[in-house]
Amino acid sequence: SFLEKYAQHPFYKAPVGNQLHAKNWQAEAALRMLLNNLDAEVAENPEELVVYGGIGQAARNKESLRQIITLLLELDEHHSLLIQSGKPVGVVRTHPEAPRVLIANSNLVPAWATWDHFNELRSRGLMMYGQMTAGSWIYIGTQGILQGTYETFVSCAAQYFNANLSGKLLVSAGLGGMGGAQPLAATMAGAVFLGADVDPSRIKKRIETGYIDRMTDSFEEAVHWTRAAQSSKTPLSVGLVSDAGDLLQQLLDHGIIPDILTDQTSAHDPINGYIPHSLSLSEALKLRKANPSHYKELSIKSMVRHVRLMLALKAKGAITFDYGNNLREFARQGGLTNAFDFPGFTPAFIRPLFCEGKGPFRWVALSGDPEDIYTTDDALIKTFPANKGLRNWLLKAREKVKFQGLPARICWLGMGEREKAGLLFNDLVRSGKVKGPIVIGRDHLDCGSVASPNRETEAMLDGSDAVSDWPLLNLMSNTASGATWVSFHHGGGVGMGYSQHAGMVVLADGTDRADACLRRVLFNDPAMGIFRHVDAGYERAELCNRKFNLKNW
Ligand code: NAD
Repeated sequence: SFLEKYAQHPFYKAPVGNQLHAKNWQAEAALRMLLNNLDAEVAENPEELVVYGGIGQAARNKESLRQIITLLLELDEHHSLLIQSGKPVGVVRTHPEAPRVLIANSNLVPAWATWDHFNELRSRGLMMYGQMTAGSWIYIGTQGILQGTYETFVSCAAQYFNANLSGKLLVSAGLGGMGGAQPLAATMAGAVFLGADVDPSRIKKRIETGYIDRMTDSFEEAVHWTRAAQSSKTPLSVGLVSDAGDLLQQLLDHGIIPDILTDQTSAHDPINGYIPHSLSLSEALKLRKANPSHYKELSIKSMVRHVRLMLALKAKGAITFDYGNNLREFARQGGLTNAFDFPGFTPAFIRPLFCEGKGPFRWVALSGDPEDIYTTDDALIKTFPANKGLRNWLLKAREKVKFQGLPARICWLGMGEREKAGLLFNDLVRSGKVKGPIVIGRDHLDCGSVASPNRETEAMLDGSDAVSDWPLLNLMSNTASGATWVSFHHGGGVGMGYSQHAGMVVLADGTDRADACLRRVLFNDPAMGIFRHVDAGYERAELCNRKFNLKNW
């Protein structure tokens, strides 16, 4: 049966090729992407249905997963499946241009929106942590954050290093599902990377997938390699098996000051994400279950030390920024009053892109054929000849990025460009130039889809950081526009109580229906980012607003 073939752990695999298993391509697309999220090549811990980002899951439990698959196989174009925190709870009557799946993950009434309450519900089987693209079935492996990380490093280089990172040392920690993009993004940007992770299996996965060059558990060896690479100005990435704070302490002790310093450990979750420096990995895994409140205390103490060390290196000249994991907030809660003395990456480097409706646009070839992605790469290069950055990115990605699971591509595109790209892909499917339909989606970390005051909406010009009407409007507008599945989550990136965000995926299956949906969704979705930033008073967004005539609807 289908379940036996594609959904038996450890062999979760998206079907490939042109044959339908579901009743239509919309449901088939959701089915393939759900299974792709759990593919062992893609997910960090498929045994527990964990895709990435601490405990970000694709389905609540194995029974729910089986039920979702069975329902998707049956779903026609006049119904839509409802998912509540990873569990199917109903099917509603809709129409062919409505989303086939409507997803709400990890949402809690604000005054109850804490990890403690969530963890209690989760332990009773009532909730699941959806992260951003885990529970909304559009995770594409570490590539998903690669270009965003690259853009961040390049933007940092432009601001502080004359646009040249050669011979510069970039230090970070956390080499998991998303953090694992840092080493490759750093070397693509020309830098030398040194990153710590306590879990050697995570670094090994990055070696296997081509994201990191070397691995060691010796600080001396790591520094020997990075020094040599810095002096010969050769890009190199090194993963050190170590606690993040221990690495920073050693750097300070040896007088080695990173040029750039950040962090991507799963600090957003002090119990099931971050690992306190006082425990070994195996002790941590045990204590998490045996005594979560003691674990949390140790975790917060360790984050205080971690941020204090980051501040010490900053004081010695390291360009230091928070990389979206809420590390500063937990250090602040632990008593470190100046934890926010370095900025988050959005106000520091990314907001100007958000003002232009730019964000992490991505697409996946449902055929499973890598050639389909190369065809889309070539078509984009031809369609946007003036966009040199895009061309460089696509050529570099083709050379350096190994696909994980279904072949996919990430590429930051803005207002106007996304719609054009979507219609172009639909034409490629229609004319048979690619061998199967393509799904188009994005991270919830986007210009108009998220409220997250310690991350995407940190330090908004008008102080509206915590206003979450925007992601709700984004969800409603994508639902009304005909996305193929939509999602609304709480707690992604920064943890419970700190963010609300919306996701969408839209199918290009070569039909006229898809043309109409793509035209609406891929126009409205980035427009939401422009509306959001115009409203907050950003001049750059206002220029874009005028350029695209968004006021004259
Ligand atoms: P993950 O759970 O897959 O990986 C986290 C890694 O951190 C693990 O490998 C773990 O071993 C390591 N780790 C935990 N504590 C450590 C410590 N004290 N020292 C060294 N290593 C330690 O998570 P991920 O998907 O890589 O995401 C990492 C963090 O970044 C999360 O908080 C996530 O929410 C956030 N995030 C940020 C962005 C962004 O764009 N800035 C995007 C996605 C995720």
